[in-house]
Amino acid sequence: MTTVGTMIPHSRPALDEREIRAATDVLRSGHIAQGEQVRQFEQAVADYMGLAGGAAVSSGTAALEVALRALGIGAGDEVILPSYVCAAPWLAVQRVGATARLVDIEPDTCNLDAGAARRALTPKTRAIIVPHLFGLPADLTALDRLGVPLIEDCAQTLGAREQGRLVGTVGVMTVCSFYATKLLCAGEGGMVLSRDRQLLERARGLREYDGAERLHPAATNLKMTDLQAAIGLAQLRRVSSFLERRAALARQYGDALAGSPAVRPSVPAGRTHMYYRYVVRVTERRSHHAGLAGAMAWFEDQGVQCRKPVFRPLHRYLGLDGFPASDEVDHTALSVPLYPALSDEEAAHIRGVLAQWR
Ligand SMILES: *Cc1c(COP(=O)(O)O)cnc(C)c1O
Repeated sequence: MTTVGTMIPHSRPALDEREIRAATDVLRSGHIAQGEQVRQFEQAVADYMGLAGGAAVSSGTAALEVALRALGIGAGDEVILPSYVCAAPWLAVQRVGATARLVDIEPDTCNLDAGAARRALTPKTRAIIVPHLFGLPADLTALDRLGVPLIEDCAQTLGAREQGRLVGTVGVMTVCSFYATKLLCAGEGGMVLSRDRQLLERARGLREYDGAERLHPAATNLKMTDLQAAIGLAQLRRVSSFLERRAALARQYGDALAGSPAVRPSVPAGRTHMYYRYVVRVTERRSHHAGLAGAMAWFEDQGVQCRKPVFRPLHRYLGLDGFPASDEVDHTALSVPLYPALSDEEAAHIRGVLAQWR
């Protein structure tokens, strides 16, 4: 696999003969659009989470939009979301015509700060989008107490718990992504899940327009294909081994980093981390490598491709101030490759590099 002089990529999907067989079986069947595989994938993901069902769609971004529309959120409504996240939640809020209220994060966990969310509540607040970043659940207990419907964004976190509850089971709706680099991948794809069958029915109606009673101007085509669903199903059958491998790698990385200038991921009491991303914090003061850029360049020299885990906080795109924790994390967070498709040699190489980091 890895030889000296090659770069270990920041992420890579775990695909083998199982996914190849699943995909070719669908191709041979002659039915490749939304059908039986999609239905099975929806039920399998819902069963995994202990929810009533799911509605598969074309992406995680589409799932967020469908969730907002299913809840009847639109013009005149406000939706709270963190600044420190990819653009998908903000874009979904724009697409339904609602107003996004950005709030800051908890600096240690990089997740939405429930206190900041409380201060942003207004009579127009209709939902809070709660991304669980990097594999660590947000503070669902505190967020749930705010009394506003939560849309859990589980694109980066499946199988982790907060106060014993599985992520995705607390909000009124939950969304997943099956993009190529996510925990379970299907190339592209997403899902809306809920325990509320009426919301699920509405979500299913929103992903397609054929056979509708009325012609709605916002209707569109957001369907998933059986080809993607079959790959997703093959991935879901492997989820426990994926999670075990991630936990083992995270333990090894943590040990290797003992003498380094990096701050290791923090896991608050009552939460479990499934290490979708292994994100460390690099402060100028503690590193010889002139901060984040220096550390990233040093890792590249060692053949390890690291990345900023969020490209740019939303408030910076929008020219807003007053998000000190998001800024702090943006300037210090570094994601080190951790995924089940790493070979043992690659994992050993990364551990060796982490152990040398000064
Ligand atoms: C990836 C991701 C999305 C968007 O999913 P896509 O399938 O890429 O559209 C939304 N939210 C979070 C937190 C993500 O990581």
